[in-house]
This record gives sequence, C-alpha cells and structure tokens, in this order.
Amino acid sequence: MTVQTTPWRAVVLTLFPEMFPGPLGHSLAGRALGRGDWALDAVNIRDFATDKHSTVDDNPFGGGAGMVMRADVLDRALETVADPRGPVIYLSPRGAPLTQDKAKELAAAPAVTLLCGRYEGVDHRLIEARGLEEVSLGDFVLSGGETAALALLDACVRLLPGVLGAPESLAEESFERGLLEYPHYTRPAEWQGRRVPDVLLSGNHAAIAAWRLAQAESITKTRRPDLWSAYNGATAAVS
Ligand code: SAH
Repeated sequence: MTVQTTPWRAVVLTLFPEMFPGPLGHSLAGRALGRGDWALDAVNIRDFATDKHSTVDDNPFGGGAGMVMRADVLDRALETVADPRGPVIYLSPRGAPLTQDKAKELAAAPAVTLLCGRYEGVDHRLIEARGLEEVSLGDFVLSGGETAALALLDACVRLLPGVLGAPESLAEESFERGLLEYPHYTRPAEWQGRRVPDVLLSGNHAAIAAWRLAQAESITKTRRPDLWSAYNGATAAVS
C-alpha cells in the first residue's frame, strides 16, 4: 500500500488570483486548507507577460468581437508549475461536463492544474500543444473560468480523506448510486401544519431505508430521465 505523504495540491492559473481561495477559505474546505490537508497556489498569468503593458490578450485573427488570451503568455505560466501537475484542465463551456465521477478521479490524483479563461477564451494552439483537458461546469457561459474552478475544487476537496466531518454522508449522496438524494427533514416534527413523514419517526431502520430508496427513485424518475434510464439499465444488469 502506498501512503500519500504530500497533500493534494491545486494550482490555478488566473488573471484574478485574489479570487482564491475565496469561498474555499471557509467552512470544511477552509479548515482543511488551514490544516494542510490540501494546498492551493494561485498563479497570476499577468506575471508572465513580457511587454511593458503586461499584455495577456490580443485581437482574434479573422476578426470578430472580444479578445483572445495569448498562447505564449499562458505557456510560460504553465511551464513554471512544478511536478506533479496532475491533470491540466482548461475550464471551458466546450469541455466535457463536470460529474461526480470526474471529481472523484481528480481527487484521487496527486494534484490538479486549472487554467481559467477570460474574454473569448484562449488561443486554440495552447490547448493542442499542451494537450489540455477541457471541462465545463454546464451548458451556460460564465464570464471567466474562476467560478468554475472554485466549483470543481469544492467538489474534489470534500472528497479528500479527513475533510468531511462524517464521511459516511458521502455514501448516500446524489449521484453516488446513480440516483438523486431523498428529501431530508429535521426538528420540529410539525411545521406550519406540515408533518414529517411518519416512517422517519418510526425507528424502523429497514422501513426508513426502503422509504428513502423509493423517494430517491421517484425524484430521479421525474427530474432526471437521463439518470433514471442509466440506473434502470445498471440495476437490470446486476439482477
Ligand atoms: N467564447 C467562449 C466563452 C468564453 S467565456 C465560448 O463561446 O465558448 C470566458 C471564459 O469563461 C472561458 O474561457 C472559460 O474559461 C470560462 N467559462 C465560461 N463558461 C464556462 C463553463 N460553462 N464552464 C467552465 N468554464 C467556463
């Protein structure tokens, strides 16, 4: 068995390093960062510009609106990232959508390197030359990759050993079994005339588990037909 001695490390290349750790400096992720369970380096892309105006972008060849981030500047910034870099990811709406499985894969790597675009994005030659993996937060356009990088890091960091207070809470979460999670309730048992489902107060663990599974299945079926058919296919295959 190999024991991981260095903490999981994230390197973020950005024009706005002050946005990091941002929300990840709080709560569970922030405490884990403070303990050294993971490490975060924000690299300012502008430091790698060479002209006196610190130019990082230029007009697009072929014309059109907006500016494009220069390959040479970004390449110099990437060059300085020490090994292990782990997967080198460009946050991009054209990338493969981020999933829980992807977050698990990245959390299991020793490190990740994230490139945050701005403006119209980055010169395509950089993506090719560096073999960058493109990952998207979803089918919408953000103004920059930073918020996507924060979301990706949040999804990874909470999976790292020792970060969550109750790791068993990971096992039943949405996507874990290919289903969305069942609804949660806490005190008071009656609020504004709404009672918590009786089964949850019964103390009958088997009945509670069966109710939760049925709820998870029904929510998934109505909200996410795509997940539901994959789940049905998978359960049909094992039974
Ligand atoms: N012109 C591009 C959008 C650029 S948005 C296009 O139409 O595809 C500026 C930057 O925001 C991108 O370079 C990328 O890093 C980031 N970004 C925008 N939407 C994103 C998304 N859905 N997922 C991840 N990053 C995104």
